[in-house]
Amino acid sequence: MRSTSLLSLFFCALLAIGLQAAEPKLKALIIEGQNNHGNWPQTTKMMKSYLEQFGLFAVDVATTAAKGTDPSFKPEFDKYAVVVSNYNGADWPKETQQAFVDYVKGGGGFVVVHAADNSFGNWPEYNEMIGLGGWGGRNEKSGPYVYFNDKGAETRDESKGNGGSHGAQHAFQIITRDAEHPITKGLPKAWMHVNDELYDRLRGPATNMTILATAYAAKGKGGTDRHEPMLMTLNYGKGRVFHTPMGHGNDSQECVGFITCLQRGAEWAATGKVTVKVPEDFPTEDKTSQRKFAGK
Ligand code: ZN
Repeated sequence: MRSTSLLSLFFCALLAIGLQAAEPKLKALIIEGQNNHGNWPQTTKMMKSYLEQFGLFAVDVATTAAKGTDPSFKPEFDKYAVVVSNYNGADWPKETQQAFVDYVKGGGGFVVVHAADNSFGNWPEYNEMIGLGGWGGRNEKSGPYVYFNDKGAETRDESKGNGGSHGAQHAFQIITRDAEHPITKGLPKAWMHVNDELYDRLRGPATNMTILATAYAAKGKGGTDRHEPMLMTLNYGKGRVFHTPMGHGNDSQECVGFITCLQRGAEWAATGKVTVKVPEDFPTEDKTSQRKFAGK
């Protein structure tokens, strides 16, 4: 081979490597279309932008019909490293439910944000994936309430009652309970979350679930006087699930803590690893940190 062709081969190889590096490594799918939160089109945009930061993911969005079970809703889950739910609405078609169970069981990643854990109270596999949920007819038949007591012990409480409640929105402190998990490694032991609904009394099967962080839901603020789960990971078959009940309002999702945990949680669900660093403007023990969303 002549040296000029060798040289051009070399440059072609360089170009190929360059193109590969420029392309996001992972594909993510956000599911939306129905939600009791009217701001869902905006929070989808926000989460899409957060997940695309650093070229972490290339994000597609799948939208259901505005009402009822949508027979045409059949995303190709297998094309994605992670599926993020911003959906709280009618049941999916049976074959879509089955395809989703097969996807996660087979090693797909899943991320559950805020009201997505209100969905599908009567879908057993979904509730195993998310561990804990609220509303949607959930009660003692759905599984125990799970929280931390004042001594820092995880508590499973089988007492009767509905699942899901929250007081008025306020800023609250997140306490890291497992500092060794890739999602929480390097985060402050305590940090302030921007104004949000503090979900309490969540209940569900809670199998293969690890609580990474909690928040104290004071009765004075309409809560339970319990330390409620705020960051959770689960294993479902070969799949990894990250669940956060945070993220009610646009302001809640502008919290740098929320953004960082969403990015890290989605990356972990997709790959089992986390490369996203803790940013300089991460909230502290007594100070929230908010990034005004200016994306499109
Ligand atoms: Zn809400």
